[in-house]
Amino acid sequence: MELEPVIGFEVHAELKTRAKVWCGCSTAFGAPPNTNVCPVCMGLPGALPVLNEGAYRLALRTALALHCDIPPVTTFDRKNYYYPDLPKNYQISQNDKFLGKGGYLEINLGEAGVKQVGIDNIHLEEDAGKNIHPEGTAVDYSLLDLNRAGMPLLEIVTKPDIRSRHEAHVFMNSMRSFLKYLDVSDCKMEEGSLRFELNMSLRPKGSEEFGTKVEVKNLNSISVVLKCIDAELERQGAVLAEGGAIIQETRLWDDVEAVTRAMRTKETATDYRYFPDPDLVDFEVKEEVKQEILATLPELPVARCRRFEEQYGLSAYDAGLLTAQRQTADYFEDAVRLHNNPKGVANWIMAEALRWLNERSGGEEGEELTIEHFPVPAPAIAELLRLLDEGTITGKIAKQLFPMMIDTGKTPSVLVEEKGLKPLDDSALDPIVEEVIANMPKVADDVRNGKAKAIGALVGAVMKKTQGKANPATLTPLIKSKLGVE
Ligand SMILES: [Zn+2]
Repeated sequence: MELEPVIGFEVHAELKTRAKVWCGCSTAFGAPPNTNVCPVCMGLPGALPVLNEGAYRLALRTALALHCDIPPVTTFDRKNYYYPDLPKNYQISQNDKFLGKGGYLEINLGEAGVKQVGIDNIHLEEDAGKNIHPEGTAVDYSLLDLNRAGMPLLEIVTKPDIRSRHEAHVFMNSMRSFLKYLDVSDCKMEEGSLRFELNMSLRPKGSEEFGTKVEVKNLNSISVVLKCIDAELERQGAVLAEGGAIIQETRLWDDVEAVTRAMRTKETATDYRYFPDPDLVDFEVKEEVKQEILATLPELPVARCRRFEEQYGLSAYDAGLLTAQRQTADYFEDAVRLHNNPKGVANWIMAEALRWLNERSGGEEGEELTIEHFPVPAPAIAELLRLLDEGTITGKIAKQLFPMMIDTGKTPSVLVEEKGLKPLDDSALDPIVEEVIANMPKVADDVRNGKAKAIGALVGAVMKKTQGKANPATLTPLIKSKLGVE
């Protein structure tokens, strides 16, 4: 019996605000422990929270961009649990009157088309602090850093709409790209500002019913989530194959053994004893605020990808690569506005700029370099393409120019002048062509006798002699006329 995974995600994104969600403390990453704290985020008795309007607007912006229904009133609840990094002994979250409900994220599956992954709800809550466990056998204590306590955290809960490891991979990349396009989170997975929790079950392919799901926490990168999906496919598959039953529970990822381990049986909502936070009023979501935010939403990745295919005649694959990061898409459009050769510009960006960035970035989980780190600005790429398309330089020279542009920051026109890289005109080429023909009499005879392809060797020899400074488009007719063939 073939089994298929049914996967949903809880996405946690720290919102890009300067202050925390219930107090004015800084959200800066990497400050010395317990320096960005105050009575509110340390949970001291009597301290009162006040909603940060900036965080609320970023959350609303995300909900609107995900096509969520926005209930007219949103409220905050206390989620009660005891843990050292949560000094109040409850987290302010939302349990009922969420900021957004329903909605979807579009993900681009290439040839399989665009899929909508449903959103169950989206809500605003606060992050917890961090327990720090010092290394060493003699150490029998943990330390606590509350700098992160009270950071604004957005939780996006998806419906279990994902059906394969590949779809899960595309979803995570798309969600990260989406949040960055919206500019609501910096999405640095290595700093924990974007985190994915997985829930997953298996069922016979073709079945409509869901199996029993498990939730997995402690997944700190996209590649770890993918490893976890593999591990759960295997574990759950083996249990079901033996006629066993999956237990509904929360499991923790063990990165050393690459397996999940049972942590606790799933809490139900009542375990947390949610109740409305009496310190916070109900928030009315005003229509004019919604309209104001809607008016500032940018074009999002999937829509931009579709437009790139239609407007610029790019393949779905190329359009997908160019729109994955907003900066790359902007760079491409800046260059095309200056020189209208979209395919040429796209090819140079993908073959040269993105390759250069890939070689220097820290991989999928490391620091993500954007095209803003690339030393050649969009106008210089446009100029290079213009020189090439006008025949001022040859393709070979363009390839030589590129590393010089990276190293020197000079524009292609300046470099062409400085290095004397303009193609030779016919009068300069004449003696060189004659010399090459004289040195290769057999090839010359072959061409005269109708072996048209043999001319390639003569073109190549002239190119070599001129170090690429002959334009192939005018060189071939010149050689032909010297040989007296059409
Ligand atoms: Zn504070």
